[in-house]
Amino acid sequence: MSRFSYSHSGLEQWACPFRGLKRHNTKARDYDREDFTHHIFGVGSAFHYLAEVYVKHLVKIGRQTDITHAEDMVNELIDNEQVSLEKFEELNELWEAFYTSFILDLNTYYDSECMVSLNENLQEVAWDADDRFFRAIIDRIHIEGNKIIITDYKTDRGLPAQSTFEKDRMYRRQCERYAWVSMFMIDNPDIKWIESGMHYVRFNTTRSLTFSIDDIAVIQGKVLKLIERIENLKKFRAIPGSCCTYCDYINECPRQKDVRAMVEILSGQTAAAYARDIVVKETHLSQLKSALRGWIKLHGPVHTGDLRFDIWKTQSRSYDMEKVLEILNKHEVDLAKVLNLTDTAAKKLDEEVYEALQEAVTYKAGTKYEARRND
Ligand code: SF4
Repeated sequence: MSRFSYSHSGLEQWACPFRGLKRHNTKARDYDREDFTHHIFGVGSAFHYLAEVYVKHLVKIGRQTDITHAEDMVNELIDNEQVSLEKFEELNELWEAFYTSFILDLNTYYDSECMVSLNENLQEVAWDADDRFFRAIIDRIHIEGNKIIITDYKTDRGLPAQSTFEKDRMYRRQCERYAWVSMFMIDNPDIKWIESGMHYVRFNTTRSLTFSIDDIAVIQGKVLKLIERIENLKKFRAIPGSCCTYCDYINECPRQKDVRAMVEILSGQTAAAYARDIVVKETHLSQLKSALRGWIKLHGPVHTGDLRFDIWKTQSRSYDMEKVLEILNKHEVDLAKVLNLTDTAAKKLDEEVYEALQEAVTYKAGTKYEARRND
């Protein structure tokens, strides 16, 4: 039997084996998926719950939308104290963005919160079975002719460009794995395509990748190979990567000991010691960066976790301002709203013009935290 059980998000954690093992050992018990009456939600889980119940309600009554019901549903959560008052505003904003634009296609709808739990032989078992090996929940599935359409709701504050979505390995991994597990949820020999997407609720926009049925065997091979590597791990080393910034186990991480040691300032002496330490560490950091850059120039990229230190090619964009003005004028764009003049750019103008421009200057007070030389 496998040492661990997996899911898409669980697999992502294993990029750092220390974190993967910690998550496996401390994972919270599943909540009762049938009875949410007493469940206290965070914003993301509350949104997913509302979306599932709302869509199932629409299917039951055979309608594409039901705005009044959607409004009642979110209010019910607050009445039942299942969402805190602080979280309610954000939830309400998200929920409104969803239900005011959502129209359910009843002809293609298949199911919501589609769950599957597989054993090592990739046979379906009970959700909580002891021999469960890989589990997945897909937020919503539609079937359109010979195509499965997968939707995973995302409550992120940013929307990736479609080109980024297509190139980014993290998005691709999720789309691939969801496409793979959907084959265990739907038994339909006519399926030829799987469109696996993420719906960014705040932006009412979906980003997706499409796979053919022939891609599925390749994806399964990749998932099982990765799991085999994890199963064969002998040491569970902490490998820093992009996930360090939002790691739940940072306080136990052996790589972060030095960072943890400095947490509190209780006296002026400690404050001064920390200030000195920052100067020393920043100098050290810049030396490390410069040494690493030199190494990479000679020997090529260096990897840690999912990060790659390399000399990357960049491309900067610049606009031909005469053409810009011509286009903006043609489209009757209010120039005052889009053009930005910095003081550095203004100083490059004729001195007399610069002086005249001072009439248009306003000042906005603010603060900035940094070390500057004493006068
Ligand atoms: S902080 Fe980074 S290196 Fe440490 S356990 Fe978390 S992911 Fe791993």
